[in-house]
Amino acid sequence: KMNTGIGQHVLKNPGIAQAIVDKADLKQSDVVLEVGPGTGNLTVRILERAKRCVAVEADPRMAAEVTKRVQGRPEARRLDVLVGDVVRTDLPRFDVCVANTPYQISSPLVFKLLAARPPPRACVLMFQREFAMRLVARPGDRLYGRLSANAQMWARVDHVMKVGRNNFNPPPRVESSVVRLVPKVPRPQVSYDEWDGLLRVCFVRPNKTLRANFFGTKVVMAMLEANYRTWCAQNDVPLGDDGDDGDDGDDGDDGDDGDDGDDGDDGDDGDDGDDGDDGDDGDDGP
Ligand code: SAM
Repeated sequence: KMNTGIGQHVLKNPGIAQAIVDKADLKQSDVVLEVGPGTGNLTVRILERAKRCVAVEADPRMAAEVTKRVQGRPEARRLDVLVGDVVRTDLPRFDVCVANTPYQISSPLVFKLLAARPPPRACVLMFQREFAMRLVARPGDRLYGRLSANAQMWARVDHVMKVGRNNFNPPPRVESSVVRLVPKVPRPQVSYDEWDGLLRVCFVRPNKTLRANFFGTKVVMAMLEANYRTWCAQNDVPLGDDGDDGDDGDDGDDGDDGDDGDDGDDGDDGDDGDDGDDGDDGDDGP
């Protein structure tokens, strides 16, 4: 079949495809969202277990493939194929999401799914191993970071199974893992953007203390001050000049500058980030 020419990794092991759908624990009443059905290896198994499947596929050729695969069969009426980028698609109501995820959109997809209303019962998703391990990492783990803290704010995250690269055609460069996300209900009453903004500061340099991240960098201090000014303006709170001065003094500029120096190896900064991402990728690669 001429359907793998677009650099996507199609599951070729039917046992794995079945295992993923089994792990989703589907009910006959479920509406399932599938992201990137490709040729439909998961889709046909989802249709055996659920009431409907809504499959969002960016590639029109793939959308045609999966449509053709069920054409003329009774389950064709229970499949809706939406052609488009899932990140930019308004999602219909769904109970469960199942996907062999296109890896480029892993992070935006996770947070889009976790923000869906009403919250899905579960999302069972295949990711690159590294991304999966960062999702499930706990405080103190090497891979614990902003992604972990953010996902775990909104959901319980479990590693479900490892999937070796040879189960795909063509085999990707790295190993994969299936992860289950179960949104917390009720959703914590916190703004996504505020929480994410806080985490950006907390994890700006992974191996530094929170204090160093907040007060040891001029960029963060400037941002916090700008945000505070905006907040004051929006909420009709006058900026207290006295207070400001007092704070500046109390903060101990000297001490902070010292921290700044530590962190200030801008080289460090860059390296930290790079090591975190690239290094790990490399580990998993060979
Ligand atoms: N589900 C199939 C399987 O397991 O064999 C194919 C999985 S393949 C890794 C990912 C699929 O997602 C491809 O069919 C690709 O065209 C599609 N895709 C890529 N980016 C997408 C996006 N932004 N929105 C929706 N689908 C996308």
